[in-house]
Amino acid sequence: MKGFSYFAPTEIVYGRGKAEELGRLAARYGKRALLTTGPGDSPALGGLYGRLRELLREAGVETAHFDGVRPNPTTDQVTAGARLARAFGAELVIGVGGGSALDAAKAIAVEASHEGTAWDYLHFTAGPTEKTLPILAVGTTAGTGSQVTPCAVITKTEEKDKSAIWHRNIFPRAAIVDPSLTDSMPPAVTAQTGFDAFCHCFEAYLSAGCNPMVEVLALEGIRLAARFLPRAVRDGTDTQARDKMAWADTLGGLANASAGVTLPHGLGMQIGGHCPWVTHGQALAAIYPAFLRYTAAWAVPKFAAVGRIFSPSLASASDEAAAQGACAAIEAFLGAIGLRISLSSLGIREDALGEIARCGQVLSDYKNNPRVATIEEMDALLRESWEMG
Ligand code: NAD
Repeated sequence: MKGFSYFAPTEIVYGRGKAEELGRLAARYGKRALLTTGPGDSPALGGLYGRLRELLREAGVETAHFDGVRPNPTTDQVTAGARLARAFGAELVIGVGGGSALDAAKAIAVEASHEGTAWDYLHFTAGPTEKTLPILAVGTTAGTGSQVTPCAVITKTEEKDKSAIWHRNIFPRAAIVDPSLTDSMPPAVTAQTGFDAFCHCFEAYLSAGCNPMVEVLALEGIRLAARFLPRAVRDGTDTQARDKMAWADTLGGLANASAGVTLPHGLGMQIGGHCPWVTHGQALAAIYPAFLRYTAAWAVPKFAAVGRIFSPSLASASDEAAAQGACAAIEAFLGAIGLRISLSSLGIREDALGEIARCGQVLSDYKNNPRVATIEEMDALLRESWEMG
């Protein structure tokens, strides 16, 4: 077996009702916390923010509330949050929400404790130091796995650039994974975020950085998403499906944190940077069928293993047949969760595709893919994904 290292320092507190433990957890890291969330008037989540502030107060932790995060958080939002954190004297930052709120919390924890802005600490720099404020994560979607990753995705609007800080100093100290907080997700958010969780598992499994630990995490995450995501989309009150998807999300984050992701995530980030109205999950869903066809022959045994998870009847089929079966099954899975979509259906103009492809190698994820794409191949893949309904 080849050698590897696996590092996952986040304390995971999993279970329905576990959000009630936030005060106790936070008090370990300081007495003044910045709560970082989406809009405070959110009908689904507004009550939760109030309850968490109450729990923090009871535990002796004072809070300031920054509710300026929007999907695909921007550097401007991070700077506004960091300013509030400094003025308040925050000793820790608590992100509550989907990946956008959790990533913004991480970037704010960096910007509030360092010179310059969070954008100065992106993945290709030396990264943030240990001065970074402690981060706690309370997830309300089941998709990004951000609660256990060293990654904060942010967008610099004026440069149409979506990039990431990736550094061990931004791993959350603790993550509360309380599936009851995901019960209020509408079907579209459930599908888009849940497909992201599947992608983290699948791409980490395919990645050049995959290791034996990641294989275990990723295959279990794929199994859970294949079985429970269509159920969670169909019936949001199916608590078993919600519980399993919250766990699949966390497994995907742990797999991604160790092995990274591949071509679809690299391209998906560029789509999000150029077309900020497209959610991360939508971008991934639109390019997945073309990505599967492009990659399958370069990773036959792994595609075959995934094909057999989706279709146990492929157990005795050849690896080649099972790998083709994986492509068909994942396309059907997209159909079952309402995400068999094209880039054109997302309002992306055909003349934007060339520019997105030209940026396709800015992030290094594509190098992890079993088949490493040229810019021309990325362009062809995007065009196929634009046309296909
Ligand atoms: P999100 O955080 O943008 O949330 C999507 C929408 O769902 C928002 O309008 C939000 O208010 C709403 N919402 C959240 N929880 C809800 C709930 N329980 N009930 C009802 N509505 C709810 O979506 P996301 O997919 O979780 O995060 C996407 C962001 O995370 C993107 O910027 C993406 O690039 C990034 N990302 C980060 C990582 C990482 O490791 N850090 C990994 C993948 C993606």
